[in-house]
Amino acid sequence: MKTSIVGYPRVGRKRELKFISEKYFRNAVTAEELEKTAVGLRKENLLVQRENGIDFIPSNDFSFYDNVLDTAVLFGIVPKRYKSLGLSPLDTYFAMAHGYQGERGDVKALAMKKWFNTNYHYIVPEAEDDMVFRLEGDKPFVEYREAKELGIDTVPCVTGPFTLLKLIRYTGSKRAEDFAADCIGAYTELIDRFDAAGAKWLRFDEPYVVFDLTEEDIALFKAIYGGILKSKGEIKILIQTYFGDVRDCYDVITDLDFDGIGLDFVEGKRTLSLIKSKGFPKNKVLFAGLINGRNIWRSNYSEIIGTIDEIKALCGEVVLNTSCSLLHVPYTLKNETKLGEEYTKYFAFAEEKLGELGEIKNITSSAAETEELRANKALFDSDRNASDEKVRERVRGISHSDFIRLPEFEEREKIQKKRFDLPLFPTTTIGSFPQTADVKANRSAFRKGSITEEEYNEFNRGKIAECIRLQEEIGLDVLVHGEYERNDMVEYFGENLNGFLFTENAWVQSYGTRCVKPPIVWGDVSRAKPITTEWSVFAQSLTDKPLKGMLTGPVTILNWSFPREDISLKECAYQIALAIRDEVLDLEAKGIEIIQIDEAALREKLPLRRSDWDSEYLDWAIPAFRLVHSGVKAQTQIHTHMCYSEFTDIISAIDNMDADVITFEASRSDLQILDALKENNFRTEVGPGVYDIHSPRIPSVDEIKSALSEMLEKLPAEKLWVNPDCGLKTRGTEETIPSLENLVKAAEQLRKEYR
Ligand code: GLN
Ligand code: ZN
Repeated sequence: MKTSIVGYPRVGRKRELKFISEKYFRNAVTAEELEKTAVGLRKENLLVQRENGIDFIPSNDFSFYDNVLDTAVLFGIVPKRYKSLGLSPLDTYFAMAHGYQGERGDVKALAMKKWFNTNYHYIVPEAEDDMVFRLEGDKPFVEYREAKELGIDTVPCVTGPFTLLKLIRYTGSKRAEDFAADCIGAYTELIDRFDAAGAKWLRFDEPYVVFDLTEEDIALFKAIYGGILKSKGEIKILIQTYFGDVRDCYDVITDLDFDGIGLDFVEGKRTLSLIKSKGFPKNKVLFAGLINGRNIWRSNYSEIIGTIDEIKALCGEVVLNTSCSLLHVPYTLKNETKLGEEYTKYFAFAEEKLGELGEIKNITSSAAETEELRANKALFDSDRNASDEKVRERVRGISHSDFIRLPEFEEREKIQKKRFDLPLFPTTTIGSFPQTADVKANRSAFRKGSITEEEYNEFNRGKIAECIRLQEEIGLDVLVHGEYERNDMVEYFGENLNGFLFTENAWVQSYGTRCVKPPIVWGDVSRAKPITTEWSVFAQSLTDKPLKGMLTGPVTILNWSFPREDISLKECAYQIALAIRDEVLDLEAKGIEIIQIDEAALREKLPLRRSDWDSEYLDWAIPAFRLVHSGVKAQTQIHTHMCYSEFTDIISAIDNMDADVITFEASRSDLQILDALKENNFRTEVGPGVYDIHSPRIPSVDEIKSALSEMLEKLPAEKLWVNPDCGLKTRGTEETIPSLENLVKAAEQLRKEYR
C-alpha cells in the first residue's frame, strides 16, 4: 500500500515565512530574499516527506498567503483595482491579500472567510463581468520543477474549478455558470502543460462537494468535469475532497473519468457506508483519508487497519492518505522541549503523522504483528491519567433544572431595570482596554522571572485604577477592569484551569502567515480556585458604577483549543461550563452584579451541513452556555459577546442562550442582523457594535448617532445598548479615548431626543 498526504504546513517550523514576509512588507528584505526563504521551506518539506517514505508527495501546497488566492491569480482572476496599481506580480498578490496603501493608491484587501470548519481563513476571489479566466501564472509549474530537481516527482495540487467557482464573489451580473466554459479551457490547459512536463498525477481539491449541494451545483460540477476530463492525455487526475463526506455527489464523482478519488474517512461520517452501499469503481485509485489531518493525537492503528481491510475488499488500489491537509496541525513535537514524554507520546503533529503513515504501511505489508502495532496498541490500552472522578460525577449529576435560569427573562428584565437604574441606551465596552507596550512589558518581565508576582499584580492594579478613572471621566455607564492580566481570552482561562496543556511552538496558521497556538485539552477540566474575582472586586471597589466581571464561555474555550477525543465534545463543554459556572457564582457572591461571558467563537464549529446543526452542535453548545449562568440571582445581569453578526440563521438559538444582554460586531455588516432580530422578536437586550475597533479610525458623534438611529428603527429603545463592536486591546490609547467620548456623547444626545 502506498502513502500520500493532502498538504503540509508551510509557515516554517519556526514561523520563518511569517517573519520574512513581515520584513518584506517593511521593506527590510528584497523579493529575492523572500523567495529564497520560500524555496528553502519548500525543500525542507519535500525532504521530510521523502525521508518518511511518502509515495505521493504534493507540490504547490506552499503559499505566500493562501492557496485559493494563488489559484485565482493563476487563472488571472485579479480585479482591476489591483491591476491598475501597476505593482509587480508579487506585490499585486499581496495587495489583494492585505490591501495596499502607498504612492500608487489606496485599496482595501479582498474579503477573508473561514475555510470550511477550520480556523484557517482564505481570501475570497472576486470575478468581474469582463474577466476571462485563463492560465496566466506559473507557480504550480515552478514548484513542480523545483521538486523534480530534487528527484521528487510530486503530485501538483490546485484548487479545483468547482470549489473555485463556488467560493468566488461575483461583483457583476455574471455568476459561476457563466464562467464554466472559461474554467474548462483554463484547467484543460493546466492539465496539458503538466502532461507535457511529465507529471504522472495532477490533483484538484474539491472540498466544496462536502456541503449540502443543490441540483444546480451538481449540474455545474458535472458540466465542468465532463469538459475538463474529455481529453486529458496520459496524466492521471485525482479529485481530492475533505472536511466531510460526498453523499450528494458520490455517484457523479465515481462515474466521471477521474483516475483517483480522495475521500475523507475521518470527518466524512458516511464515507465508508457510501462505499459499502454503492461500491467503488475498481479501475480508480481510492485515496483513503484515514489519518486525521486536524487533530494532534496519535492514530489508533488497529482501527485504521480494520477500516483498510474493509475498504480493500471493496476497491481496487487503495492509497493511505491524510483526511485533509496537515496545514491544520503544528509542524513537529521536536519543537516541544517542556512537555514530558508522558504527554508527548500521545501526540502526533505533522511530521509525526508522516511517521504514522509509514508505520501503518509497514504493518499492512507484514504478515506477523509488528513491533509498531504492538506499541500502538499498548499506547491505546494504557491509561492516560486524564480523568478526574469528581468532575465526571459532577457532569453526571447535571439535571434538567441546571440549564434553566429562573425567573424568566421578562421578570428578570424588570428587576434588573429597577436595580441598576441605568439611563436609556446604556453605554459600555466589551472588556479589554489597549494592551499598551507597558502592559506587555510587565507581562513578559513576569514570565521571564525578572519581577515577582506581587510586582506584576501591583502594576496591573495600577492599570485597572487608571482604566476605571478613564471610564468615569468619559462617562460610561457600565465599567470593565480592562483585562490587563490576560494576553488571550482562551489561554488565560486554560492556564488557570486543570486539564489543559500548553505548547511552546505548536503554531497553526489562522490567516496569511498569522498563526495561533491553541491549548490542548488533555484531561477532565476543573477549577482549582477563583480566577478573576480578585481583579473584578478590586476594580469594583474603585467605583460606584456597576463593574462587569469578564469571563470566557465554555464553547469558545473548547473551539479555540485542540479538543481531546476520548470523550465527546459535549461532555468536555459541560466540564468547562461547570468550572466557569463556579467562577460566575463566586463573582456574584463577591458583589459583582453584572457578568459577561464571552462566546466569541460560538458559531465557529457549526457543522458544514445545515441538516446537522441541531443534532450535532447547537444541542449541546447552547445548553453549555446556559449551564454557566443558570445559578445566578434574578438581579444579576448576564451579558454575552460574539465577534460576528452572522447569526441570522441561528438567531433563535442565540436568544435561547437566555443571557440578559448580548453585544456583537455589527458595524461592518450593513446592520442586516437588525431585521432578523425584529422578525424573530429577539428578546435579549442588544448592543450591536456602533463602531469598528479593527481600525484606528475615530468615529464621529454623528456617525455613531446615525448608526443608533438606524438600529432604533428596528429595535425597541429600552433594549438598546451602546458599545464598540469588540474588545479594545489591539487599539492605541490615542484613538480609544476620543472614540469612546464620541460614543458617550452620541448616547447622551439621543437620550435627550427620546425624553
Ligand atoms: N472580552 C474580550 C475583550 O474585550 C472579548 C474579545 C473577543 O470577543 N474576541 O477582549
Ligand atoms: Zn469580539
